[in-house]
This record gives sequence, C-alpha cells and structure tokens, in this order.
Amino acid sequence: MVAEFDLIRRYFKTLVDAEGFGLGLQDDCAQIPNQALSGDMVLTVDTLIEGVHFLPDDPPETLARKALRVNLSDLASKGAKPLGCLLALSLPKPQPKDEAWLQAFADGLGQDLKQYKLQLLGGDTTSGPGPLSLSVTVLGLLPSRQALGPAMLRSNGRDGQALCVTGPIGLGFLGLKVLSEDLELPSPLFERAVARYRLPEPRLAEGVLLRESGAVGACMDISDGLLADSRHMADASGLRVEIDLAKVPLASPLLASESLGPLAQISGGDDYELLFSCDESQAERLIERLGRGAIIGRLTKGQGLALLGPNRELLRAPHEGYVHGND
Ligand SMILES: [Mg+2]
Repeated sequence: MVAEFDLIRRYFKTLVDAEGFGLGLQDDCAQIPNQALSGDMVLTVDTLIEGVHFLPDDPPETLARKALRVNLSDLASKGAKPLGCLLALSLPKPQPKDEAWLQAFADGLGQDLKQYKLQLLGGDTTSGPGPLSLSVTVLGLLPSRQALGPAMLRSNGRDGQALCVTGPIGLGFLGLKVLSEDLELPSPLFERAVARYRLPEPRLAEGVLLRESGAVGACMDISDGLLADSRHMADASGLRVEIDLAKVPLASPLLASESLGPLAQISGGDDYELLFSCDESQAERLIERLGRGAIIGRLTKGQGLALLGPNRELLRAPHEGYVHGND
C-alpha cells in the first residue's frame, strides 16, 4: 500500500500547476484570488461507490473521468463554466489497488482536467475496509444573476412551456444493462452504449447556450432517468409534466424487449443530457441552435407525470427510474 503523501506526490501532483489555485497540492487549502471570480460561484458534489454507482471491473482510467463528468453535468444544467475540483479518494484496504491501477486512474483524471479546462484544487486520500469510493466536488462560475436574470432553476418551469432534451435518451442505461446482465446488443450500438455508460458527455456548451438565450425556464441534467427527472422538475415547479413517447429521441427505438425497449430506456438513468423547459414559441429555434435534441412534451397546470401515446392516450411506465435511498 502506498502511503498517502507518496500517493499524492506520485500520481496527483503532476496534474497540478504549482502556480495554480491548488498551490501545487502542498498546502492545507487551495486559494482562489477574488479577481478570478467574475460572477456567481456554483458548487456541486457527487460520490461514486463501487458496486453502487459503477461496476467492480470498470476500467480505472474512466472512473475518475466519470466522477468528474457527472459533476460537470450538474454545472452544465445551470449554464456554468468549470473552474476547479476537489477529489476525495477512499481506497479499499482488503484489496489494495496496484500502481498500474493508480497510474491509469490519475492519467484519466489528468486527461479530463485538460479537456474541460479545470484545475485540481486539492483533495484527500484514505483507505479503509469499505469498497472503493470517490467523491468529486466541482466549482464553477456563472455570469452574475443580475446580468442574465434568474438561474435555470428546476423550479422555474412555467405553465404552457415546452419540455425539451438536448440529446438521445437511454444510451447509458443500455450500457449498464449489457455490462451488468450480460445482455447482447448489435455492434456498434453495444460499444457506443458501454462507452457512454462509462464516460458521460456533460453538455456544458449547450448549457451556456441555453442560459444565454434567456428563453429557458427550468433546466436540470438527466441522471436518474427521463421519467424520474421530468417528475422532479414538475414537482419543483408545482406543475404537471406530459411526455409524448413518440417524440422522445431514443438511443435505440427499435429494441422491443421489455428490459431494453423504449419504456426501459426512458426509465433508466445515466443519460446526462439536459432536460429544459422554454416558451413554446422559442422551442424549435432553440433546438435548431443547439443542433441536437428534441421537443418531447410540455408543462401544464396540475401535478404528476403523464406519459402519452400517439393519440394522447395515457401509457403506463414500468417504473420512474432510480430512486434515492435515505443514505
Ligand atoms: Mg443533477
């Protein structure tokens, strides 16, 4: 087992610029000078635990990237730009990770720090009896609220607004299914689904575009599944949400089985596309400007979720997605 200081020196210090906000990972705290903060700071944290949020044999080079990206997806949903992150890594003592694993993990992290232009500010490494766990906190910046009106809060949905997504739904879910249940999918869908499950693509540019358009009401990222998250938005806005199943861009519309078909794809999680509401008159133009996504339904007076068929008949969904426990 590598000692903590050794581990930080060997694998993480190389990812940090000594002149950066993380002070070369040499001090007790990171420090961000006030001049670097033009606007509101937004913060978010997510923890991934082996066996709960990722699979024991997921490759180390994608783990740190996934932990980072699910947080970046939260920033994207507010139209924020990434600034820095903190990483808390808890390694399993009973089955220690070897040097090749740690190097691959750190290389993956370094790759995404570059790609998304954010700094590693600091963190913590421990080891204990539990499974591998990694927790990433991300800091982002938003032009000040006064400049652009209220943030795209989940509660900002308005009666009559169109409901839209920035891209296909169900790919990450299909990836999880084929990896955890040994199910078959035709190539290249199989490879695409596995890649998306392991490496979500946070819609940062899309989030900024939506925010700057000034036309968006509520916005959130889809992590628990389209149905569950639409319901979250409707509840937060005090409204009812209607989804037209035929309008939802599915990862694979032709899969017919109950465990992989359309209803399963809109119920599963791990999409990390953005879900947003906007005035109906602006919706088409916004989707055009995004160059991706679709209008899939609307917010109306009332409460709850209605999944509608081609003749506006009510469809039943198997379940509404990932349910958070109280832990
Ligand atoms: Mg979120």
